[in-house]
Amino acid sequence: MKRACVIGAGFGGLALAIRLQSSGIATTLVEARDKPGGRAYFWEREGFTFDAGPTVITDPAALRELWALSGRDMAEDIELMPVAPFYRLNWPDGYHFDYSNDLGALQREIARLAPDDLAGYAEFLEYAGAVYQEGYVRLGHVAFQDFSSMVRAAPALIKHQAWRSVYSMVSSFVKHEKLREAFSFHTLLVGGNPLTTSAIYALIHKLEVEGGVWWAKGGTNRLVAAMVKQFERLGGEIRLHDPVLHIHLLGDRATEVEALSGWRERFDAVASNADLVHTFRDLLAGTPRGHDMARKLARKRFSPSVFVVHFGVEGTWPGIPHHTILFGPRYKGLLEDIFDHGVLPQDFSIYLHHPTVTDRSLAPRGKSTFYALIPVAHLGKLPIDWDQVGPLIEQRVLDEVGRRLIPDIHDRIVTKFHYAPRDFALDLNAWQGSAFGLEPILTQSAWFRPHNRDDKIRNLYLVGAGTHPGAGIPGVVGSAKATARLMLEDLR
Ligand SMILES: Cc1cc2nc3c(=O)[nH]c(=O)nc-3n(C[C@H](O)[C@H](O)[C@H](O)COP(=O)(O)OP(=O)(O)OC[C@H]3O[C@@H](n4cnc5c(N)ncnc54)[C@H](O)[C@@H]3O)c2cc1C
Repeated sequence: MKRACVIGAGFGGLALAIRLQSSGIATTLVEARDKPGGRAYFWEREGFTFDAGPTVITDPAALRELWALSGRDMAEDIELMPVAPFYRLNWPDGYHFDYSNDLGALQREIARLAPDDLAGYAEFLEYAGAVYQEGYVRLGHVAFQDFSSMVRAAPALIKHQAWRSVYSMVSSFVKHEKLREAFSFHTLLVGGNPLTTSAIYALIHKLEVEGGVWWAKGGTNRLVAAMVKQFERLGGEIRLHDPVLHIHLLGDRATEVEALSGWRERFDAVASNADLVHTFRDLLAGTPRGHDMARKLARKRFSPSVFVVHFGVEGTWPGIPHHTILFGPRYKGLLEDIFDHGVLPQDFSIYLHHPTVTDRSLAPRGKSTFYALIPVAHLGKLPIDWDQVGPLIEQRVLDEVGRRLIPDIHDRIVTKFHYAPRDFALDLNAWQGSAFGLEPILTQSAWFRPHNRDDKIRNLYLVGAGTHPGAGIPGVVGSAKATARLMLEDLR
Protein backbone atom coordinates (compact mmCIF):
# COMPACT_ATOMS: atom_id res chain seq x y z
CA MET A 1 0.00 0.00 0.00
CA LYS A 2 1.38 3.41 -1.00
CA ARG A 3 1.77 5.96 1.81
CA ALA A 4 1.22 9.72 1.74
CA CYS A 5 1.75 12.45 4.30
CA VAL A 6 -0.31 15.66 4.31
CA ILE A 7 1.22 18.47 6.40
CA GLY A 8 -1.47 20.74 7.85
CA ALA A 9 -5.13 20.06 8.63
CA GLY A 10 -6.75 23.14 7.11
CA PHE A 11 -9.76 22.63 4.82
CA GLY A 12 -7.38 21.94 1.91
CA GLY A 13 -5.28 19.41 3.83
CA LEU A 14 -8.35 17.63 5.20
CA ALA A 15 -10.05 17.45 1.79
CA LEU A 16 -6.87 16.09 0.19
CA ALA A 17 -6.36 13.53 2.97
CA ILE A 18 -9.97 12.29 2.54
CA ARG A 19 -9.52 11.99 -1.22
CA LEU A 20 -6.24 10.06 -0.90
CA GLN A 21 -7.53 7.74 1.81
CA SER A 22 -10.75 7.15 -0.19
CA SER A 23 -8.54 5.98 -3.07
CA GLY A 24 -6.65 3.46 -0.97
CA ILE A 25 -3.54 5.53 -0.19
CA ALA A 26 -2.58 5.13 3.49
CA THR A 27 -2.55 8.78 4.54
CA THR A 28 -1.16 10.47 7.63
CA LEU A 29 -2.23 14.03 8.36
CA VAL A 30 0.17 15.95 10.61
CA GLU A 31 -1.04 19.18 12.21
CA ALA A 32 1.00 21.61 14.29
CA ARG A 33 -1.87 22.90 16.44
CA ASP A 34 -3.90 21.14 19.10
CA LYS A 35 -7.04 21.23 16.93
CA PRO A 36 -7.58 20.69 13.20
CA GLY A 37 -9.09 23.34 10.90
CA GLY A 38 -6.27 25.85 10.35
CA ARG A 39 -7.94 29.21 9.73
CA ALA A 40 -11.14 27.44 10.86
CA TYR A 41 -9.87 26.95 14.43
CA PHE A 42 -12.27 27.65 17.32
CA TRP A 43 -12.39 28.61 20.98
CA GLU A 44 -14.91 27.90 23.74
CA ARG A 45 -15.18 30.52 26.49
CA GLU A 46 -17.78 30.93 29.22
CA GLY A 47 -20.27 28.83 27.30
CA PHE A 48 -19.77 30.71 24.00
CA THR A 49 -18.33 29.06 20.89
CA PHE A 50 -16.20 31.32 18.70
CA ASP A 51 -15.26 30.16 15.22
CA ALA A 52 -11.97 31.80 14.26
CA GLY A 53 -12.33 32.15 10.51
CA PRO A 54 -14.70 30.96 7.78
CA THR A 55 -18.39 31.47 8.44
CA VAL A 56 -19.88 31.61 4.94
CA ILE A 57 -20.17 28.11 3.51
CA THR A 58 -20.71 28.10 -0.27
CA ASP A 59 -20.81 25.30 -2.85
CA PRO A 60 -21.85 22.55 -0.42
CA ALA A 61 -21.78 20.09 -3.35
CA ALA A 62 -17.96 20.30 -3.37
CA LEU A 63 -17.95 19.23 0.29
CA ARG A 64 -20.52 16.46 -0.24
CA GLU A 65 -18.20 14.90 -2.81
CA LEU A 66 -15.75 14.12 -0.01
CA TRP A 67 -18.30 11.72 1.47
CA ALA A 68 -19.78 10.51 -1.83
CA LEU A 69 -16.32 9.21 -2.85
CA SER A 70 -16.77 6.41 -0.33
CA GLY A 71 -20.51 6.04 -0.81
CA ARG A 72 -21.50 8.02 2.26
CA ASP A 73 -23.73 10.99 2.85
CA MET A 74 -22.30 14.13 4.45
CA ALA A 75 -25.65 14.70 6.19
CA GLU A 76 -24.86 11.75 8.52
CA ASP A 77 -22.06 13.83 10.05
CA ILE A 78 -23.05 17.47 9.68
CA GLU A 79 -26.18 19.49 9.04
CA LEU A 80 -25.96 22.54 6.79
CA MET A 81 -28.52 25.26 7.49
CA PRO A 82 -29.53 27.87 4.89
CA VAL A 83 -28.74 31.50 5.73
CA ALA A 84 -31.14 34.27 4.68
CA PRO A 85 -30.47 36.96 3.71
CA PHE A 86 -26.95 36.01 2.61
CA TYR A 87 -25.71 39.42 3.77
CA ARG A 88 -27.16 42.70 4.95
CA LEU A 89 -25.09 45.56 3.57
CA ASN A 90 -25.29 48.70 5.66
CA TRP A 91 -23.85 52.14 4.88
CA PRO A 92 -23.04 54.99 7.30
CA ASP A 93 -26.11 56.94 6.09
CA GLY A 94 -28.26 54.17 7.59
CA TYR A 95 -29.32 52.66 4.24
CA HIS A 96 -29.34 48.89 4.08
CA PHE A 97 -29.54 46.39 1.26
CA ASP A 98 -30.39 42.70 1.74
CA TYR A 99 -28.56 40.41 -0.59
CA SER A 100 -29.74 36.86 -1.35
CA ASN A 101 -30.34 34.44 -4.22
CA ASP A 102 -34.07 35.05 -4.20
CA LEU A 103 -34.03 36.82 -7.55
CA GLY A 104 -37.39 38.54 -6.99
CA ALA A 105 -36.32 39.87 -3.59
CA LEU A 106 -32.94 40.95 -4.95
CA GLN A 107 -34.55 42.77 -7.86
CA ARG A 108 -36.88 44.57 -5.44
CA GLU A 109 -33.85 45.65 -3.40
CA ILE A 110 -32.12 46.95 -6.54
CA ALA A 111 -35.31 48.71 -7.71
CA ARG A 112 -35.70 50.38 -4.30
CA LEU A 113 -32.21 51.84 -4.62
CA ALA A 114 -31.70 52.39 -8.36
CA PRO A 115 -34.43 51.16 -10.73
CA ASP A 116 -32.31 52.19 -13.72
CA ASP A 117 -29.75 49.56 -12.73
CA LEU A 118 -32.11 46.57 -12.95
CA ALA A 119 -31.21 45.84 -16.57
CA GLY A 120 -27.51 46.28 -15.82
CA TYR A 121 -27.75 43.81 -12.94
CA ALA A 122 -29.30 41.21 -15.27
CA GLU A 123 -26.34 41.66 -17.62
CA PHE A 124 -23.90 41.39 -14.71
CA LEU A 125 -25.53 38.16 -13.58
CA GLU A 126 -25.07 36.79 -17.08
CA TYR A 127 -21.41 37.81 -17.06
CA ALA A 128 -20.90 36.29 -13.58
CA GLY A 129 -22.51 33.06 -14.85
CA ALA A 130 -20.12 32.87 -17.79
CA VAL A 131 -16.98 33.40 -15.71
CA TYR A 132 -18.30 30.95 -13.09
CA GLN A 133 -18.62 28.26 -15.79
CA GLU A 134 -15.15 28.93 -17.12
CA GLY A 135 -13.20 29.84 -13.99
CA TYR A 136 -14.85 27.62 -11.39
CA VAL A 137 -16.80 24.73 -12.94
CA ARG A 138 -14.26 24.05 -15.72
CA LEU A 139 -10.90 25.15 -14.29
CA GLY A 140 -11.38 25.55 -10.53
CA HIS A 141 -10.20 22.03 -9.68
CA VAL A 142 -7.77 21.30 -12.50
CA ALA A 143 -4.02 21.79 -11.95
CA PHE A 144 -2.14 24.28 -14.14
CA GLN A 145 1.17 22.41 -14.31
CA ASP A 146 2.58 23.70 -17.60
CA PHE A 147 2.40 26.87 -19.60
CA SER A 148 0.32 25.21 -22.33
CA SER A 149 -2.54 24.89 -19.81
CA MET A 150 -2.42 28.69 -19.46
CA VAL A 151 -2.35 29.14 -23.22
CA ARG A 152 -5.47 26.96 -23.49
CA ALA A 153 -7.24 29.16 -20.91
CA ALA A 154 -6.17 32.41 -22.63
CA PRO A 155 -9.06 32.79 -25.12
CA ALA A 156 -11.60 32.64 -22.29
CA LEU A 157 -9.59 35.13 -20.23
CA ILE A 158 -9.53 37.53 -23.18
CA LYS A 159 -13.22 37.02 -23.94
CA HIS A 160 -14.17 37.82 -20.34
CA GLN A 161 -11.72 40.76 -20.09
CA ALA A 162 -9.86 39.16 -17.20
CA TRP A 163 -7.39 42.06 -17.07
CA ARG A 164 -10.13 44.34 -15.76
CA SER A 165 -10.94 44.46 -12.05
CA VAL A 166 -14.15 43.18 -10.50
CA TYR A 167 -15.06 46.74 -9.48
CA SER A 168 -14.43 48.08 -12.99
CA MET A 169 -16.50 45.30 -14.54
CA VAL A 170 -19.38 45.72 -12.07
CA SER A 171 -19.26 49.49 -12.73
CA SER A 172 -19.70 48.87 -16.45
CA PHE A 173 -23.05 47.22 -15.65
CA VAL A 174 -24.49 49.25 -12.75
CA LYS A 175 -24.20 52.96 -12.05
CA HIS A 176 -25.22 53.39 -8.41
CA GLU A 177 -22.15 53.44 -6.16
CA LYS A 178 -23.85 51.37 -3.44
CA LEU A 179 -24.64 48.65 -5.98
CA ARG A 180 -21.08 48.76 -7.28
CA GLU A 181 -19.90 48.07 -3.74
CA ALA A 182 -22.61 45.45 -3.14
CA PHE A 183 -21.53 43.38 -6.15
CA SER A 184 -17.76 43.81 -5.85
CA PHE A 185 -16.88 43.46 -2.15
CA HIS A 186 -16.85 39.63 -2.34
CA THR A 187 -13.21 39.39 -3.39
CA LEU A 188 -12.33 40.59 0.10
CA LEU A 189 -13.59 37.21 1.34
CA VAL A 190 -10.66 35.58 -0.45
CA GLY A 191 -8.09 38.30 0.25
CA GLY A 192 -8.51 40.22 -3.01
CA ASN A 193 -8.89 43.96 -3.55
CA PRO A 194 -12.09 44.55 -5.60
CA LEU A 195 -10.23 47.39 -7.35
CA THR A 196 -7.43 45.16 -8.65
CA THR A 197 -8.59 41.54 -8.50
CA SER A 198 -9.39 40.08 -11.90
CA ALA A 199 -13.01 40.36 -13.03
CA ILE A 200 -13.01 36.55 -13.25
CA TYR A 201 -13.68 36.65 -9.49
CA ALA A 202 -17.16 37.97 -10.25
CA LEU A 203 -17.76 34.22 -10.32
CA ILE A 204 -18.23 34.39 -6.52
CA HIS A 205 -21.57 36.14 -7.09
CA LYS A 206 -22.79 33.30 -9.29
CA LEU A 207 -21.33 30.70 -6.90
CA GLU A 208 -23.52 32.13 -4.14
CA VAL A 209 -26.58 32.51 -6.37
CA GLU A 210 -26.20 28.96 -7.65
CA GLY A 211 -25.27 27.03 -4.50
CA GLY A 212 -26.58 29.30 -1.73
CA VAL A 213 -24.95 30.43 1.51
CA TRP A 214 -24.96 27.92 4.36
CA TRP A 215 -24.08 27.57 7.99
CA ALA A 216 -22.73 24.38 9.53
CA LYS A 217 -24.89 23.56 12.58
CA GLY A 218 -22.80 24.02 15.70
CA GLY A 219 -20.29 26.18 13.83
CA THR A 220 -17.69 25.79 11.09
CA ASN A 221 -15.65 23.85 13.66
CA ARG A 222 -18.31 21.08 13.47
CA LEU A 223 -17.77 20.83 9.71
CA VAL A 224 -14.06 20.43 10.38
CA ALA A 225 -14.84 17.74 12.98
CA ALA A 226 -17.08 15.99 10.44
CA MET A 227 -14.24 15.95 7.90
CA VAL A 228 -11.88 14.48 10.50
CA LYS A 229 -14.50 11.84 11.32
CA GLN A 230 -14.86 10.92 7.66
CA PHE A 231 -11.06 10.69 7.25
CA GLU A 232 -10.58 8.51 10.33
CA ARG A 233 -13.53 6.32 9.43
CA LEU A 234 -11.74 5.54 6.15
CA GLY A 235 -8.68 4.45 8.15
CA GLY A 236 -6.66 7.67 7.92
CA GLU A 237 -4.32 8.67 10.75
CA ILE A 238 -4.22 12.19 12.16
CA ARG A 239 -1.43 13.50 14.41
CA LEU A 240 -2.29 16.73 16.21
CA HIS A 241 -0.05 19.12 18.13
CA ASP A 242 3.10 17.99 16.38
CA PRO A 243 4.60 20.66 14.09
CA VAL A 244 6.54 19.28 11.14
CA LEU A 245 10.13 20.49 11.25
CA HIS A 246 11.60 19.02 8.11
CA ILE A 247 10.82 17.28 4.85
CA HIS A 248 13.85 15.09 4.04
CA LEU A 249 14.92 14.76 0.43
CA LEU A 250 16.98 12.24 -1.50
CA GLY A 251 17.90 13.78 -4.85
CA ASP A 252 14.71 15.13 -6.36
CA ARG A 253 12.37 13.14 -4.13
CA ALA A 254 10.86 13.74 -0.69
CA THR A 255 11.50 10.65 1.39
CA GLU A 256 10.72 11.33 5.05
CA VAL A 257 8.79 13.77 7.23
CA GLU A 258 10.08 14.70 10.68
CA ALA A 259 8.11 16.44 13.42
CA LEU A 260 8.93 18.20 16.69
CA SER A 261 8.05 15.18 18.87
CA GLY A 262 10.79 13.16 17.16
CA TRP A 263 8.26 11.29 15.01
CA ARG A 264 9.86 10.57 11.63
CA GLU A 265 8.44 8.38 8.86
CA ARG A 266 8.99 7.45 5.22
CA PHE A 267 6.38 8.27 2.60
CA ASP A 268 5.92 7.76 -1.12
CA ALA A 269 4.46 11.25 -1.50
CA VAL A 270 4.30 14.39 0.66
CA ALA A 271 1.82 17.26 0.35
CA SER A 272 2.02 20.53 2.24
CA ASN A 273 -1.07 22.47 3.25
CA ALA A 274 1.08 24.77 5.39
CA ASP A 275 1.89 28.34 4.36
CA LEU A 276 4.03 28.29 1.20
CA VAL A 277 6.90 30.47 2.42
CA HIS A 278 7.06 28.38 5.62
CA THR A 279 7.05 25.17 3.56
CA PHE A 280 9.98 26.18 1.38
CA ARG A 281 11.96 28.35 3.82
CA ASP A 282 11.63 26.20 6.94
CA LEU A 283 10.48 22.68 6.08
CA LEU A 284 12.92 22.50 3.15
CA ALA A 285 15.64 24.55 4.86
CA GLY A 286 19.14 23.75 3.64
CA THR A 287 18.00 22.60 0.19
CA PRO A 288 18.53 24.65 -3.02
CA ARG A 289 14.86 24.29 -3.95
CA GLY A 290 13.72 25.49 -0.53
CA HIS A 291 16.05 28.48 -0.70
CA ASP A 292 15.12 29.49 -4.27
CA MET A 293 11.38 29.14 -3.84
CA ALA A 294 11.28 30.93 -0.48
CA ARG A 295 13.12 33.89 -2.02
CA LYS A 296 10.88 33.93 -5.06
CA LEU A 297 7.68 33.67 -3.02
CA ALA A 298 8.68 36.34 -0.53
CA ARG A 299 8.81 38.84 -3.43
CA LYS A 300 5.21 38.16 -4.42
CA ARG A 301 2.16 40.13 -3.33
CA PHE A 302 0.41 38.76 -0.27
CA SER A 303 -3.17 39.35 0.79
CA PRO A 304 -3.83 41.62 3.73
CA SER A 305 -4.44 40.37 7.20
CA VAL A 306 -7.54 40.82 9.32
CA PHE A 307 -8.20 41.96 12.86
CA VAL A 308 -11.08 40.10 14.49
CA VAL A 309 -12.87 41.00 17.73
CA HIS A 310 -14.76 38.06 19.22
CA PHE A 311 -17.39 38.91 21.80
CA GLY A 312 -20.25 37.31 23.67
CA VAL A 313 -23.08 39.57 24.87
CA GLU A 314 -26.11 39.50 27.10
CA GLY A 315 -29.36 39.44 25.14
CA THR A 316 -30.54 38.17 21.80
CA TRP A 317 -30.65 40.15 18.56
CA PRO A 318 -33.20 38.76 16.11
CA GLY A 319 -32.94 42.00 14.10
CA ILE A 320 -29.23 41.57 13.31
CA PRO A 321 -28.82 39.10 10.43
CA HIS A 322 -26.20 36.35 10.41
CA HIS A 323 -23.84 38.28 8.11
CA THR A 324 -23.72 42.09 8.05
CA ILE A 325 -21.26 44.34 6.23
CA LEU A 326 -21.00 47.75 7.88
CA PHE A 327 -19.39 49.81 5.13
CA GLY A 328 -17.33 52.76 6.26
CA PRO A 329 -17.44 56.26 4.75
CA ARG A 330 -14.79 55.40 2.12
CA TYR A 331 -14.66 52.39 -0.22
CA LYS A 332 -11.85 52.99 -2.73
CA GLY A 333 -9.68 55.06 -0.37
CA LEU A 334 -9.94 52.50 2.40
CA LEU A 335 -9.02 49.65 0.05
CA GLU A 336 -5.97 51.58 -1.16
CA ASP A 337 -4.90 52.23 2.44
CA ILE A 338 -5.09 48.52 3.25
CA PHE A 339 -3.72 46.99 0.05
CA ASP A 340 -1.28 49.65 -1.17
CA HIS A 341 -0.32 52.26 1.41
CA GLY A 342 -0.13 49.94 4.41
CA VAL A 343 -1.51 52.48 6.85
CA LEU A 344 -3.93 51.92 9.68
CA PRO A 345 -6.87 54.12 8.66
CA GLN A 346 -9.11 56.07 11.02
CA ASP A 347 -12.22 54.61 9.37
CA PHE A 348 -13.02 50.98 8.60
CA SER A 349 -15.53 48.62 7.06
CA ILE A 350 -16.65 45.82 9.36
CA TYR A 351 -17.88 42.33 8.61
CA LEU A 352 -20.11 41.37 11.56
CA HIS A 353 -20.76 37.69 12.18
CA HIS A 354 -23.80 36.82 14.30
CA PRO A 355 -24.17 33.02 14.27
CA THR A 356 -26.63 32.78 17.17
CA VAL A 357 -29.39 34.31 15.04
CA THR A 358 -29.29 31.06 13.00
CA ASP A 359 -28.04 28.62 15.59
CA ARG A 360 -28.66 29.16 19.34
CA SER A 361 -26.23 26.39 20.27
CA LEU A 362 -23.23 28.76 20.11
CA ALA A 363 -24.10 30.78 23.21
CA PRO A 364 -25.62 30.21 26.65
CA ARG A 365 -29.36 30.81 26.98
CA GLY A 366 -30.32 34.47 26.50
CA LYS A 367 -26.88 35.44 25.18
CA SER A 368 -25.39 35.96 21.72
CA THR A 369 -22.11 35.29 19.96
CA PHE A 370 -20.53 37.76 17.53
CA TYR A 371 -17.31 38.50 15.72
CA ALA A 372 -16.42 41.79 14.08
CA LEU A 373 -13.70 41.63 11.42
CA ILE A 374 -11.81 44.45 9.73
CA PRO A 375 -9.26 43.92 6.96
CA VAL A 376 -5.88 45.45 7.82
CA ALA A 377 -2.55 45.57 5.99
CA HIS A 378 -0.25 42.60 6.58
CA LEU A 379 2.86 42.85 8.74
CA GLY A 380 5.17 43.40 5.75
CA LYS A 381 3.30 46.61 4.89
CA LEU A 382 2.31 47.64 8.40
CA PRO A 383 4.95 46.43 10.87
CA ILE A 384 3.29 47.72 14.04
CA ASP A 385 3.22 46.23 17.52
CA TRP A 386 -0.22 44.65 17.61
CA ASP A 387 0.13 43.91 21.34
CA GLN A 388 0.00 47.67 21.90
CA VAL A 389 -2.39 48.69 19.12
CA GLY A 390 -4.77 45.72 19.41
CA PRO A 391 -6.72 46.86 22.51
CA LEU A 392 -7.23 50.34 21.01
CA ILE A 393 -8.54 48.97 17.71
CA GLU A 394 -10.71 46.48 19.59
CA GLN A 395 -12.30 49.39 21.45
CA ARG A 396 -12.90 51.37 18.25
CA VAL A 397 -14.42 48.40 16.43
CA LEU A 398 -16.79 47.70 19.34
CA ASP A 399 -17.67 51.41 19.55
CA GLU A 400 -18.63 51.39 15.87
CA VAL A 401 -20.76 48.24 16.23
CA GLY A 402 -22.33 49.92 19.26
CA ARG A 403 -23.00 53.14 17.38
CA ARG A 404 -24.62 51.36 14.44
CA LEU A 405 -26.29 48.27 15.93
CA ILE A 406 -25.99 47.53 19.67
CA PRO A 407 -26.12 50.86 21.57
CA ASP A 408 -25.15 49.56 25.04
CA ILE A 409 -22.65 47.04 23.74
CA HIS A 410 -19.96 47.70 26.37
CA ASP A 411 -22.39 47.04 29.24
CA ARG A 412 -23.59 43.83 27.65
CA ILE A 413 -20.25 42.18 26.92
CA VAL A 414 -19.72 38.96 28.91
CA THR A 415 -16.44 37.95 27.29
CA LYS A 416 -14.23 39.34 24.52
CA PHE A 417 -10.83 38.90 22.94
CA HIS A 418 -9.19 39.74 19.63
CA TYR A 419 -7.10 38.00 17.00
CA ALA A 420 -4.50 40.13 15.20
CA PRO A 421 -2.07 39.76 12.25
CA ARG A 422 0.71 38.67 14.60
CA ASP A 423 -1.46 35.75 15.75
CA PHE A 424 -1.78 34.52 12.16
CA ALA A 425 2.01 34.61 11.88
CA LEU A 426 2.63 32.87 15.20
CA ASP A 427 -0.19 30.31 15.24
CA LEU A 428 -0.32 29.42 11.55
CA ASN A 429 3.19 30.22 10.30
CA ALA A 430 1.44 32.65 7.94
CA TRP A 431 3.92 34.76 6.00
CA GLN A 432 3.59 38.44 7.05
CA GLY A 433 0.51 37.40 9.04
CA SER A 434 -1.51 37.31 5.81
CA ALA A 435 -5.03 35.96 6.40
CA PHE A 436 -5.46 34.50 2.91
CA GLY A 437 -1.96 33.83 1.48
CA LEU A 438 -0.90 34.96 -1.99
CA GLU A 439 -3.02 37.82 -3.27
CA PRO A 440 -5.42 36.66 -6.01
CA ILE A 441 -4.30 38.99 -8.80
CA LEU A 442 -4.17 37.82 -12.42
CA THR A 443 -0.36 37.61 -12.49
CA GLN A 444 -0.47 35.30 -9.45
CA SER A 445 -3.33 33.09 -10.65
CA ALA A 446 -3.63 29.73 -12.42
CA TRP A 447 -0.23 28.78 -13.93
CA PHE A 448 1.34 31.87 -12.35
CA ARG A 449 0.47 30.54 -8.89
CA PRO A 450 2.75 27.96 -7.22
CA HIS A 451 1.89 24.64 -8.84
CA ASN A 452 -0.06 21.86 -7.16
CA ARG A 453 2.96 19.60 -7.79
CA ASP A 454 6.37 21.11 -7.24
CA ASP A 455 8.35 21.60 -10.45
CA LYS A 456 11.61 20.22 -9.03
CA ILE A 457 10.80 17.82 -6.19
CA ARG A 458 8.81 15.23 -8.09
CA ASN A 459 6.74 13.80 -5.23
CA LEU A 460 6.15 17.03 -3.30
CA TYR A 461 2.70 18.57 -3.69
CA LEU A 462 1.00 21.72 -2.48
CA VAL A 463 -2.61 22.14 -1.44
CA GLY A 464 -4.60 25.04 0.03
CA ALA A 465 -4.90 28.77 -0.38
CA GLY A 466 -1.37 29.32 -1.76
CA THR A 467 -1.84 27.14 -4.81
CA HIS A 468 -4.41 26.98 -7.63
CA PRO A 469 -7.19 28.08 -7.52
CA GLY A 470 -6.73 30.00 -4.21
CA ALA A 471 -8.29 30.94 -0.88
CA GLY A 472 -11.80 30.37 0.45
CA ILE A 473 -13.30 26.99 1.32
CA PRO A 474 -14.48 26.24 -2.24
CA GLY A 475 -11.03 27.29 -3.50
CA VAL A 476 -8.97 25.11 -1.20
CA VAL A 477 -11.37 22.15 -1.55
CA GLY A 478 -10.96 22.60 -5.33
CA SER A 479 -7.17 22.69 -4.90
CA ALA A 480 -7.40 19.37 -3.03
CA LYS A 481 -9.21 17.84 -5.99
CA ALA A 482 -6.55 19.10 -8.41
CA THR A 483 -3.69 17.94 -6.17
CA ALA A 484 -5.28 14.55 -5.43
CA ARG A 485 -5.64 13.84 -9.13
CA LEU A 486 -1.92 14.51 -9.69
CA MET A 487 -0.90 12.45 -6.65
CA LEU A 488 -3.07 9.49 -7.58
CA GLU A 489 -1.78 9.50 -11.16
CA ASP A 490 1.81 9.60 -9.91
CA LEU A 491 1.35 7.03 -7.14
CA ARG A 492 -0.20 4.56 -9.55
C1 LIG B 1 -11.09 35.49 9.48
C2 LIG B 1 -11.29 34.72 8.21
C3 LIG B 1 -12.58 34.58 7.70
C4 LIG B 1 -12.79 33.83 6.54
N1 LIG B 1 -14.06 33.67 6.09
C5 LIG B 1 -14.29 32.82 5.06
C6 LIG B 1 -15.62 32.47 4.73
O1 LIG B 1 -16.57 32.94 5.36
N2 LIG B 1 -15.82 31.58 3.72
C7 LIG B 1 -14.77 31.02 3.04
O2 LIG B 1 -15.02 30.19 2.14
N3 LIG B 1 -13.49 31.33 3.35
C8 LIG B 1 -13.23 32.21 4.34
N4 LIG B 1 -11.94 32.49 4.71
C9 LIG B 1 -10.83 31.90 3.94
C10 LIG B 1 -10.62 30.44 4.31
O3 LIG B 1 -10.82 30.27 5.68
C11 LIG B 1 -9.20 29.98 3.99
O4 LIG B 1 -8.84 30.36 2.67
C12 LIG B 1 -9.06 28.47 4.09
O5 LIG B 1 -9.67 27.98 5.28
C13 LIG B 1 -7.59 28.13 4.09
O6 LIG B 1 -7.46 26.74 4.08
P1 LIG B 1 -6.08 26.04 3.79
O7 LIG B 1 -6.37 24.64 3.36
O8 LIG B 1 -5.25 26.86 2.86
O9 LIG B 1 -5.34 25.88 5.17
P2 LIG B 1 -5.16 26.73 6.50
O10 LIG B 1 -6.46 26.97 7.13
O11 LIG B 1 -4.25 27.86 6.28
O12 LIG B 1 -4.43 25.62 7.37
C14 LIG B 1 -3.07 25.29 7.22
C15 LIG B 1 -2.72 24.37 8.37
O13 LIG B 1 -1.32 24.05 8.29
C16 LIG B 1 -0.85 23.97 9.63
N5 LIG B 1 0.61 24.09 9.66
C17 LIG B 1 1.37 25.18 9.40
N6 LIG B 1 2.67 24.88 9.57
C18 LIG B 1 2.71 23.56 9.93
C19 LIG B 1 3.77 22.67 10.26
N7 LIG B 1 5.06 23.05 10.22
N8 LIG B 1 3.46 21.40 10.60
C20 LIG B 1 2.18 20.97 10.64
N9 LIG B 1 1.14 21.78 10.35
C21 LIG B 1 1.41 23.05 9.99
C22 LIG B 1 -1.54 25.13 10.31
O14 LIG B 1 -1.52 24.99 11.72
C23 LIG B 1 -2.94 25.01 9.73
O15 LIG B 1 -3.75 24.17 10.51
C24 LIG B 1 -11.69 33.24 5.87
C25 LIG B 1 -10.40 33.38 6.36
C26 LIG B 1 -10.20 34.12 7.53
C27 LIG B 1 -8.80 34.25 8.06
